[in-house]
Amino acid sequence: MEKSEFVLRAKSPPAVGLFAEATSLSALAAQEAVCTRCPLYKNATQVVPGEGPPRARVLLIGEQPGDVEDVSGRPFVGPSGKLLDIALERAGVARDKCFVTNAVKHFKFELRGKRRLHKKPDAGEIDACRWWLDRERALLRPGLVVALGATAIRGALGRSEAVSRLRGDIIDLGDGVQFLATVHPSSLLRLKDESDKREAWRGFLADLRKIARWIEKDARALD
Ligand code: SF4
Repeated sequence: MEKSEFVLRAKSPPAVGLFAEATSLSALAAQEAVCTRCPLYKNATQVVPGEGPPRARVLLIGEQPGDVEDVSGRPFVGPSGKLLDIALERAGVARDKCFVTNAVKHFKFELRGKRRLHKKPDAGEIDACRWWLDRERALLRPGLVVALGATAIRGALGRSEAVSRLRGDIIDLGDGVQFLATVHPSSLLRLKDESDKREAWRGFLADLRKIARWIEKDARALD
């Protein structure tokens, strides 16, 4: 983040409406850092903005930061992120060519003793944070938006849809942007049965390979 663009967290954060429209992703991240659009900022360590090249053609959207991301301030660096890295590599997608973000930018959790257990963001929180996701997307102008899981689908489309209904097909969003839905990598980590795990892994890789093919086609079209 450039120093001049960094906004220090104020004791009483300004309402989002008072911000000037951010003209860069780093300026947007600084605005997100003082966001109070929903209550999730109150208990999280820090905001976790999106990360990646500002001209990335692919936008990967997850659900929300986890415990590791909340502490580090970076998206997809915990167990789900590590699994995503492996899956992207196997599928032939370079993660550092993608912009990676979350539908909700602050970690939602409940305390169990000293442990902070992930809690799914509700529709109101996803819709409040969509304000930032829309601005990330407007600045980035990706050609392909990939939603990882149901929360990301709601963030990307503004409505709830089951992953199983949208999964697998690249669809046109009607604004020159295409869209692909798949599962969130954390859903694979939760599976206990070995054959379920193998099947879920194969399905996830098959979806991610569609991104690789899209990137190849996109690069040819831009040549
Ligand atoms: S989760 Fe999103 S909308 Fe809620 S406070 Fe954080 S940045 Fe703002």
